[in-house]
Amino acid sequence: MPVKNRFAELLPEITEWRHDLHENPEILFDTVRTAQVVEEKLKTFGCDEVVTGLGRTGLVGVIKGKSTASGKVIGLRADMDALPILENTGVDYASKTPGAMHACGHDGHTAMLLGAAKYLAETRNFDGTVVVIFQPAEEGGGGGKEMCDDGMMERFGIQEVYGMHNWPGIPTGQFAIRPGGFFASTDQFEITVRGQGGHAAQPNRTVDPIVTTSSVVSALQSIASRNADPIQQIVVSVCSIESSSKAFNVIPDAVTIRGTIRTMSKETRELAETRLKAIATSTCEAYGAKAEITWIKGYPAMVNSEEQTDFAAEVAREVSGTCDFAEVTMGGEDFAYMLEERPGAYILVGNGDSANVHTPEYNFNDEAIPAGCSWWAGIAERRMPAA
Ligand SMILES: [Zn+2]
Ligand SMILES: [Zn+2]
Repeated sequence: MPVKNRFAELLPEITEWRHDLHENPEILFDTVRTAQVVEEKLKTFGCDEVVTGLGRTGLVGVIKGKSTASGKVIGLRADMDALPILENTGVDYASKTPGAMHACGHDGHTAMLLGAAKYLAETRNFDGTVVVIFQPAEEGGGGGKEMCDDGMMERFGIQEVYGMHNWPGIPTGQFAIRPGGFFASTDQFEITVRGQGGHAAQPNRTVDPIVTTSSVVSALQSIASRNADPIQQIVVSVCSIESSSKAFNVIPDAVTIRGTIRTMSKETRELAETRLKAIATSTCEAYGAKAEITWIKGYPAMVNSEEQTDFAAEVAREVSGTCDFAEVTMGGEDFAYMLEERPGAYILVGNGDSANVHTPEYNFNDEAIPAGCSWWAGIAERRMPAA
């Protein structure tokens, strides 16, 4: 099963959809027009059911195979949202909304999954049910979580989920994947160290939050170096230190630090939160100060299931000949929420030698469409083979 001929035929049409989405980017949960376009197409394709309003502006299409005797149900997920970036690609279908841009290629993801849905609804050459999932707000809003919170997995009986992201630097239409932790959790923290300010020349009459904070910042590094399993990836970064005084001769009352912790597993993530709170609280106490800690939960680590990853790689090899082993990335991805609820896998498809995602020069590579669509179709047809 190399690239399916049908997708070579459909390429001009899918490319047209992609360019239309690119021209009309929408941010976070504002994917109203995008969802309407997707809904209309899914209905035209003859999906058995189209359900909107999941995770606010998310939607799904249900496509039943020639038979559903296997009882299998597979979810295929694309993201629809754009980024608040001023486009600088110079393409004739560039964003018509200044300050909004499909700079992460979610226009390509949506178009490819639509292409696969059209083909699957046309052929139905599988024994089971495919649920195509279109989510809003991947870029920081947690749209995937909201769709899960709306009971999507249970409502449609989804047993496995698959996702795909284009990746600059991987040859066009080639694939890369890895089992286990793939994208990092993205929690943030804020710690206010509250002391007692005073005259810089009389430190004995103060509880100095500057000296206390220095110790806290240093001690936080021991989470990565002394607490976490050395085999596990973790990054602890303090990114901002802010004193309540800017003077040269005043010891301030308080200092606030902000930062982020990235991990690749649930265990390391929980450990990091527990240790951060203990270290900040106890260090402050040792200096006579008080710690006020805010833990801002980000996306969980995105962890690929072993079996589904092997299967996804097998399908990728059938489409493109090879499938590379992907490096981990300490960036976040909210498909993580779906993978927390169901086993599944997330794969990268090459965008070729393009500008990086999240830059004004980036553009999704339409030449990756046949490979991407073929992988989606292959996942459904090979995981739920028709009798
Ligand atoms: Zn992105
Ligand atoms: Zn993205």
